[in-house]
Amino acid sequence: MALYAIALGSNRRHGRHGAPARVLAAAIAALPREGVIPLTVSPTFVTAPIGPSIRAFANAAALVETPLDPPALLAALKRIERAFGRRRGQRWGARVLDLDILLWQKGRWSSRRPVLLIPHIGLAKRRFVLDPLVKIAPEWPVPRIGTVAQARARLTRRLAIHRSGPGSGP
Ligand code: ATP
Ligand code: CA
Ligand code: CA
Repeated sequence: MALYAIALGSNRRHGRHGAPARVLAAAIAALPREGVIPLTVSPTFVTAPIGPSIRAFANAAALVETPLDPPALLAALKRIERAFGRRRGQRWGARVLDLDILLWQKGRWSSRRPVLLIPHIGLAKRRFVLDPLVKIAPEWPVPRIGTVAQARARLTRRLAIHRSGPGSGP
C-alpha cells in the first residue's frame, strides 16, 4: 500500500451530478471502485463565477491509499475522468473533471510512457492546489522545498511581494 495526495478540479457542470463542487464529491465517491481509498478529503474551494462567461471553479485535495503504483494510479484517475465525460484535448479549457497526482509517499517519480512526473509540476506554483492540500497534509514533505506548509508560505509571500510592486511602499 502507498499513500498519495491527489488534486481534484472542475469548472463545468455535469448533467447528472450538477455544479463543480458536486462533481468533486462524486469523483471522491468513485475512487474505491478503482482500488483507491480516500483517507482525508479537504474542504472544497469554490470560486464564484464573476460574469456570464467566467465559469465557477471547484478545487479540492485528498489523501488516498492504494496498492497501485504511479502509472497504474494515473490510468485509474484517467478512467474516472472519462467516466465523468471528460474528452481529450480539453487541457486548460473547461472540463468536467481533472484529477492529478500531487505527491507520493515514496518520493519522486518520472516517466515518459506514460508521461508522469511526481511531485506534480504545478504543485509549488498554484494557490488553488496548495490551499486545499495544506488543510489536510501541512507536514507532507515536498522535495527541495521542505513541507506543503512551507511551499504554500513561500508562494503566498512571493505573490504578496509581486503585488506590492515597485515604489508602492508606505
Ligand atoms: P496540468 O498538468 O498543468 O495541471 P492538466 O491537468 O490540464 O494540466 P491534462 O490534460 O489533464 O493536463 O494532462 C496532461 C498529461 O499530464 C496527462 O496525460 C499525464 O500523462 C501528464 N501528467 C504528468 N504528470 C502528471 C501528474 N503528476 N498527474 C497527472 N497527470 C500528469
Ligand atoms: Ca491539472
Ligand atoms: Ca490533469
